[in-house]
Amino acid sequence: MTKITALDTYDVRFPTSRELDGSDAMNPDPDYSAAYVVLRTDQPGLEGYGFAFTIGRGNDVQKVAIDALAHHVSGLSVDDVIGDLGGFAKRMIGDSQLRWLGPEKGVMHMAIGAVINAAWDLAARMAGKPLWRFIADMTPEQLVATIDFRYLTDALTPEEALTMLHAAKVSKPQRIATLLAEGYPAYTTSPGWLGYSDEKMQRLAREAVAAGFRTIKLKVGMNVEDDVRRCRLARETVGPDIGIAVDANQRWDVPDAIAWLRRLSDVNIAWAEEPTSPDDIIGHAAIRRAVTPVPVSTGEHTHNRVMFKQLFQAGAVDLVQIDAARVGGVNENLAILLLAAKFGVRVFPHAGGVGLCELVQHLAMADFVAISGKKDDRAIEFVDHLHEHFVDPVIVRNGCYIAPESPGFSAQMHTGTLAHYRYPDGPAWREPASVARAR
Ligand SMILES: [Mg+2]
Repeated sequence: MTKITALDTYDVRFPTSRELDGSDAMNPDPDYSAAYVVLRTDQPGLEGYGFAFTIGRGNDVQKVAIDALAHHVSGLSVDDVIGDLGGFAKRMIGDSQLRWLGPEKGVMHMAIGAVINAAWDLAARMAGKPLWRFIADMTPEQLVATIDFRYLTDALTPEEALTMLHAAKVSKPQRIATLLAEGYPAYTTSPGWLGYSDEKMQRLAREAVAAGFRTIKLKVGMNVEDDVRRCRLARETVGPDIGIAVDANQRWDVPDAIAWLRRLSDVNIAWAEEPTSPDDIIGHAAIRRAVTPVPVSTGEHTHNRVMFKQLFQAGAVDLVQIDAARVGGVNENLAILLLAAKFGVRVFPHAGGVGLCELVQHLAMADFVAISGKKDDRAIEFVDHLHEHFVDPVIVRNGCYIAPESPGFSAQMHTGTLAHYRYPDGPAWREPASVARAR
């Protein structure tokens, strides 16, 4: 019997703030980081990988939260874990002492998500399949058994989910063929970081269109006159047929969001992302009503399935971002994807950071193949940063994510990366004092 022998964790940080990559109105100087998890087993070569994404300070806190879950993992039979991924998740989420720290939100929930994702990675590796395919090949009954329907049944019951999944099953083989042939649409945020000059934004926007992207996204929310100028410049640069989304990263109060978005009305915005607090469901609904027809979205900081349920029930959003590393792992994201499909809300997965593209592509592809059956009215975010640190990096070609073929969740980092970027004592952080002072 193969056993999980250890849950090892690493504090890995990349000094991205030195280049202002990733800068937005709320996060001016992120150092993209991962609290990285390895589930080790007693079978040589068999491990599962996962991580929580943070933007620097606090990554040590995140790591300690993952360490607090070791007793739920070490010594378990691998077959018991991967044979009951729903039960595995429920035991960690239901740990009553740790649950006090949430429940089902924040650092502890992200920690649980990292461990759950590592277990799915392990399961897909053992099956010899990329995760999207592993999920697609589950029966509707197996998939539904991984989901915790607690607090959801006023919006979605297990029986309804089964009906949806059985209906989607009929044309699953064709969609797998379509996915393998076409890939999954991507959009890019690379031109739009707030710290970039107008010239750099325009150059990167032109390059994005030339590379096949049909939508770009600009960060907004610091200064309305700057945003009006940058959005108009971007529109001039890309022409009328390319989508331009804007992302305020929670910067505004509700009245400010409404006033600001009205100022951008001549730009024909594809969607307005995170206009206000991610917790403010009624506020999002008010903004959406006031700025229609501009589509409103949120989700990358939405804690859990219960909040997504309310966003849908309240008609607060036109589309949502899911994030592979914020909620309680694959299980909870499957619940969110089923809810979105039931309510007819489009999903534009959040990515970027470090490794988020690698993870979330699998969820979007599984959604297309096995759940919603849709991909052409949606797209996965893409940012061309830090992919070189992954053993199975994303491949984006002609504006589309190519379906990964290697077994697993694409979460594994190179061993050299773990050593070089280990915080605070890896070589990447032992720099000359002059460089450190300049930061
Ligand atoms: Mg965003």
